Amino acid sequence: MLAFRWAGTTMSLCDPRIESQSPEAALSSFGSGSEGLTREEAVRRRAEFGPNRVEAVTRIPLWRTFLREFSDFFALILWLAAGMAFVSEGANPGQGMAGLGFAIIGVILVNGCFSFWQAYRAEQALAALRQLLPQVAHVRRSGETLALNVEDLVPGDLVLLAEGDKVPADCRIVAAWGLRVNLATLTGESRPKARSAKADAAAGGNVLVARNLLLAGTLIVSGGCRAVVYATGMRTEFGRIAHLTQTVGAAESPLQREIRRVSHLVALLALGLGLVFFLIGDWIGLPFWANAMFAIGIIVANVPEGLLPTVTLALALATQRMARRNALVRHLPAVEALGSTTVILTDKTGTLTRNSMAVRELYVAGAHHLAAPRWPRGADLRLRSVARFCHALKFPGGQPSGDPMEIALWQFAGEIPEPGGRIGDMPFDAERRRMSVLMAEPGGGASLWCKGAPETVLPLCLSWLDGDAERPFDDAAWQAFRCAHEDMANRGLRVLALAWKPVAEVAGADESGLRLCGLIGLEDPPRPDVREAVTRCHEAGLRVIMVTGDHPRTAVALAREVDLIRTPAPVVLNGEEVRKMSPAALQLALDAPEILFARVTAEQKMVIVQALQRKGEIVAVTGDGVNDAPALKTADIGIAMGRSGTDVAREAADIVLLDDHFATIVNAVEEGRTVFENIRKFLTYILTSNIPEIVPYLAFVLFRIPLPLTVIQILAVDLGTDILPALALGAERPHPDIMRLPPRPRQERLLSWPLLARAYLFLGPLEAFGAMMVFFHVLGAGGWSPGQQLAVADPLYLRGTTACLLAIVLTQMANVFVCRHPLLPTWRFPLLSNPLLLLGLVVEALLLLALVYTPWGNLLFGTVPLAGSAWLYAMPFGLLLLVAEEMRKGIVRGRQGAPLPRS
Ligand code: ADP
Ligand code: MG
Repeated sequence: MLAFRWAGTTMSLCDPRIESQSPEAALSSFGSGSEGLTREEAVRRRAEFGPNRVEAVTRIPLWRTFLREFSDFFALILWLAAGMAFVSEGANPGQGMAGLGFAIIGVILVNGCFSFWQAYRAEQALAALRQLLPQVAHVRRSGETLALNVEDLVPGDLVLLAEGDKVPADCRIVAAWGLRVNLATLTGESRPKARSAKADAAAGGNVLVARNLLLAGTLIVSGGCRAVVYATGMRTEFGRIAHLTQTVGAAESPLQREIRRVSHLVALLALGLGLVFFLIGDWIGLPFWANAMFAIGIIVANVPEGLLPTVTLALALATQRMARRNALVRHLPAVEALGSTTVILTDKTGTLTRNSMAVRELYVAGAHHLAAPRWPRGADLRLRSVARFCHALKFPGGQPSGDPMEIALWQFAGEIPEPGGRIGDMPFDAERRRMSVLMAEPGGGASLWCKGAPETVLPLCLSWLDGDAERPFDDAAWQAFRCAHEDMANRGLRVLALAWKPVAEVAGADESGLRLCGLIGLEDPPRPDVREAVTRCHEAGLRVIMVTGDHPRTAVALAREVDLIRTPAPVVLNGEEVRKMSPAALQLALDAPEILFARVTAEQKMVIVQALQRKGEIVAVTGDGVNDAPALKTADIGIAMGRSGTDVAREAADIVLLDDHFATIVNAVEEGRTVFENIRKFLTYILTSNIPEIVPYLAFVLFRIPLPLTVIQILAVDLGTDILPALALGAERPHPDIMRLPPRPRQERLLSWPLLARAYLFLGPLEAFGAMMVFFHVLGAGGWSPGQQLAVADPLYLRGTTACLLAIVLTQMANVFVCRHPLLPTWRFPLLSNPLLLLGLVVEALLLLALVYTPWGNLLFGTVPLAGSAWLYAMPFGLLLLVAEEMRKGIVRGRQGAPLPRS
């Protein structure tokens, strides 16, 4: 549709409902006019109506989420255990069962508070992110156009909306051109609907169908308009709906789902194990209640209570770290998808380049003008006029705002008196790659000013301007301009053709029969650290493919400059070629080691994304325009530009780059990979301690020795000393070598066999060995001989179990260090690089001291104070674990032939 857009029409009707009024009546009914509200009035109304913000109304109250922590699946198991302890105390007083019951309740409380704190922090982290990217609206006030935070909009404000904007409040359109909106956020229907300023009496009060209303939260997919705000904040349709519907819980990420699955599986396993133990105990003739308690102890010991909140927190903290590095994560699952990204499809302008354009060269009247700081003498006033007037800039506060290229042209052209007002325009789109404006001439008639990619403008020209003369656009001229164009493009300049024509009859004016004024070459240097980021991608096994709307030669020149292309003959495909290719051919073409796409439209970008996905790649794609939305949605990770992008692209994306910078994507990938590794680290850590907790039971049952570790002591480890160090492992900083390894294969599970083997078959047995040795040492020193039974309250027995507990905690403290990396030696990681880890260790040590030496700890956990010799005997086992694990890592590293770089 190549029609010029016009200002809205007028009708006068007198219906109180806003959609059936005329635009003027609608405006004046809000005390507003074409100049907008006065500033004073706007301030007054802001105070009266409050901020234009939709609050999460149905937020579950904190105390409810708090209580929920005490009634979830795992907590219920613990309550059951506590209940049984009290019942057994009643049936069999004096066995210390009541103490156990109280201790379990204590554990439930501590664990619940901790989970709550984690969930709360995670939510706070995510909420803080939402504040980072305020939406801006262009508003007329006191006759000036301002760029305001949408929260400051008030009823009666006159807003200017354009393609790609998200509607900031409920508005009535007063003037519109080619306006179409997507109502999917409200109705779910994604086909765009036309909207105009015309009074609409037929809507019958239904705001969703009224053709002259724009509702907050919907998206403008084409055209533009002026509209008057009639409802803000919670009074908008969107606010009303937010009121009615429950806040949909954030979708669970695949990782969280996997963790949930794993922990339920482990819980089932633990139940089975508990049952087996119960039967064994029954068989060897243990008293029923004690036996039941063992079974429940086993279950409780093996259920990974803290796993899910810890994973959620690890993800949330990663989003926070990413935000500090300018990548705003909109959906949690994107964090992990990022970690497994294999291909990045990136835009050129603004992402790889600075998007600070500067005019470098002109080609006018058959001659090049290099590095022109000013217009060369004889340069046509027409050329300057196109540069000055043919744009889609806005001027909030008198300063130009919009496309940096247009700003560069506008500034370069300098002051030119505006002949007459703009009476229509044909906006830029990536399909046509040009734009035109129509401006009234003082002497009657009008002028059409057009600028765009030379390929699309040159064919429209009938003549070219040679100073004051006008020459026919013949073959020779065509050749000359094409050569000039390619010459500039080869040097990495972005080339625009500027053309003009007088228009006698304004109605029905089109872009044919233009007079070419000249070519302009703009320079857009690469961002300083893009080269380094590209190198990091190569090291990390990530493919980077440039997909640009620019000319192939310009694109190749820049790609070379930033090292994206290193061979002499890369494959360069243009959009037209992609369109003609079959899907299979495109898939094969993508095998080329170096490939680049130029003159590509959004639609073809999407096709490229799909082709890569069919090849099994995990694709991250960048985009900024309305048309990019489908590609952003289709890709595994859609990345929108926070600065230059449209609201539409941001809504469709998983991640928003606050600085539009390519290097930020690479940083985000690094964080994504780190999260995954960190979760593995703490899984290894907490799974390890299951072995020294189970082995005492096995020994107790198989060898009839006194039980070396009581149920309650298991809880002290699992829900006490282990928790903070595990959390700290989940918050480890990215390690440099994480970006020197290839991406993780898509099918790779979080809980892999090597991880399980390391925890259950190596680290765990080492700890169990230490724990049993220490136990027997203390018993032996106290005069115990094998085969001898000890009473539950025997001081020697109490010392033995305390020593066993001590050994487990001490070896776990050593384990924290080796868990910091599965292959690299622990001394490569400075302790202070993770303050939480230091804190975790300190707290762990204090807890241990409290368990062993305070009367409360003794009472709750059945411990007794130990002599220093027990510590001295236990500590070497921590050292043993350290040394053995580091030796194992060394052997594995040696076998792998040192693929791991030094760091
Ligand atoms: P990129 O991938 O570099 O962002 P775009 O899709 O923005 O490419 O632009 C493609 C081409 O369209 C540019 O090379 C330029 O020739 C032309 N173009 C871009 N912006 C404008 C504009 N505002 N007015 C006229 N032509 C433009
Ligand atoms: Mg662009």
